[in-house]
Amino acid sequence: MFQDIPNEFDINFDGREIDEKAYVLCYDGEKVLCRIDGGAEFPRIGNLKDRPETVFAFSADGIRYFLCLSGRASAEGFEYKSLKAVRGAAQDINKFAAITGFHYYKFHGENRFCGRCGGKLVHDPEKRCMLCGNCGNEVFPKISPAVIVGIIDQENDSIVLTKYAERDYKKYALVAGFAEMGESAEDAVKREVMEETGLEITELKYYKSQPWGLAQNLLIGFLGYVKGSRRIIMDKNELSEAVWVSREKLQVGNEGVSLTEDMMRAFKEGRI
Ligand SMILES: [Zn+2]
Repeated sequence: MFQDIPNEFDINFDGREIDEKAYVLCYDGEKVLCRIDGGAEFPRIGNLKDRPETVFAFSADGIRYFLCLSGRASAEGFEYKSLKAVRGAAQDINKFAAITGFHYYKFHGENRFCGRCGGKLVHDPEKRCMLCGNCGNEVFPKISPAVIVGIIDQENDSIVLTKYAERDYKKYALVAGFAEMGESAEDAVKREVMEETGLEITELKYYKSQPWGLAQNLLIGFLGYVKGSRRIIMDKNELSEAVWVSREKLQVGNEGVSLTEDMMRAFKEGRI
């Protein structure tokens, strides 16, 4: 899955200066500065014009990645490409880096001033956090917990697949949604399943989780077994389609990084 792309991922904050080997992730909206040639490659600090201000983001497979804080940086031979294009082109660690770095970029863009006193926020030199010099408020990257669930009918050996009503993502997906205040992940699953499909589930089992920097969330995967009626009453505001698909007829994509695909494949192959 997505988090398995790097062999080794180290999120511990490393306050040392940027070095010549480190990659710099420079974003402009949902585009990142890179060179796509087979895979996707990011510039190093020596490639960038006017040496921009940077902050450490993370280490992956022994390479340090930094985030550019100085607006729209440029480098000869590199262009801003959509994250969608990078996601398609890169088969390696840079796919992981582009999306995880985007999470950090969004954090910086959305936290320039203190929400408590309005003072300017600056990056803490020792940890991954923005600090208000006026009131001492510490602001950490937001990670929103979201749940995803494979709804399974054991009697008929089938699973519920859905399509979103108004999103760019047009492939089949599983029921998913954000956890709300005061809810456990399990309660969020039961609520989302009822809201989106009208089904009642029992025997909820934890499956796996996955970080997803594009939406700044942590997806928590469950399997739920339907009880009572299997008739789907679809939420037409959220979904354009919600259907039972048998194990035999289920088709699984091959991008190889998403929790959705991993769960669908596990069902197809009889592992769940
Ligand atoms: Zn403040």
